[in-house]
Amino acid sequence: MRHNLAIIGFGGMGSFHYKKLLKGQEIVCTGVWDIREERREYAESFGLHAYESLEDLLADESIEIVLIATPNDCHHPIALQALAAGKHVICEKPVTLNTQLLTEMLEAAEQAGKLLTVHQNRRWDRGYRIVHQVMAEGKLGEIYRIESRVHGAHGIPGDWRQDPKQGGGMVYDWGIHLLDQAVMLFPEAKIRSVYATLNHVTNEQTDDGFFVDLLFDNGIHYIVEVGTSHFITLPRWMVMGRDGTMLLDNWGLEGKIVCAHGEDDKDVVPVVTAAGLTKTMAPRREDTIQTLDIPDIWPDIGEYYRNITAVLEGRESPIVTPPQMLRVMRLIQAVFASARTGECIPFEIEIGNE
Ligand code: NAD
Repeated sequence: MRHNLAIIGFGGMGSFHYKKLLKGQEIVCTGVWDIREERREYAESFGLHAYESLEDLLADESIEIVLIATPNDCHHPIALQALAAGKHVICEKPVTLNTQLLTEMLEAAEQAGKLLTVHQNRRWDRGYRIVHQVMAEGKLGEIYRIESRVHGAHGIPGDWRQDPKQGGGMVYDWGIHLLDQAVMLFPEAKIRSVYATLNHVTNEQTDDGFFVDLLFDNGIHYIVEVGTSHFITLPRWMVMGRDGTMLLDNWGLEGKIVCAHGEDDKDVVPVVTAAGLTKTMAPRREDTIQTLDIPDIWPDIGEYYRNITAVLEGRESPIVTPPQMLRVMRLIQAVFASARTGECIPFEIEIGNE
């Protein structure tokens, strides 16, 4: 069944939804509202209807769903207005800036009896799915540490992302994706503590990178790191288990899985350097390890809008749920609290009080 959608904020991501993500879907974009005339004209160049105002769009009864793809601070007020007008709402990430605003949005959706969800599209990232599958297959044995990184070298973009009032900064921009992936990899585990630092390499007002160490109650340390001044990048993913390690490098996800194989080599040949020798850090003998292929996984992002269609038709429940949205938003707040205080923040389990 066809469902009409209008896009509010037809910038980089709003237009990507129209050009790529909605292609072949039963949800059809018919119009847009953007505060900038040039973006409205751009939308018209595709044959889309450009509304004269947000109110004009919301008054159109043919529109069932709105996608909000404006800067982050506008998601909350626009979502409340759209829900009050009887529209289902999909927000770009981050859904909003804190749990108080999110709670207001969720309550408004509940009252209106409408869907409110967020576009957590990085759940369809290949690397994330590969990590999920390799862990599920137990190839690496018991996992003790995961490192998830995104490194660039362009600095923070020069638009609203540099403005804290507009919800700029890399914690909101990339943190929301990578922390969502972290909690989705361990949906049953509680987080014991959050320690974070923010970077201000390129400017003082907005974080242009950050480091987070999540400690799960299963003992796993999960590192999330984003940097925008990394001229040499570290791997996108490192997953460490007692029996093996997986590395996935960069966006192409070239990588390898190396696992223990056969008997450990007790008679290690030491590495000798001018300053000393080490047996502990000597490489393992080739016959005591094996290298496995990275699974060939190609996730289909089309599932996101197919799920929304099925939700509207009462056939499925949403993939991205309100409790998940709230949990990640609380985590974002804990990241800011830890960075502000320099402390490790107890999260879902009080430290020393179990
Ligand atoms: P952008 O600056 O390219 O586009 C934002 C658009 O919103 C602009 O055209 C601007 O004129 C318009 N706008 C601003 N205020 C408005 C208002 N009050 N009403 C209507 N239009 C308004 O930014 P972007 O990169 O497209 O980011 C937009 C949103 O999409 C952000 O929330 C961002 O976090 C998100 N995003 C998500 C992903 C993803 O992978 N999920 C990727 C990029 C951006």
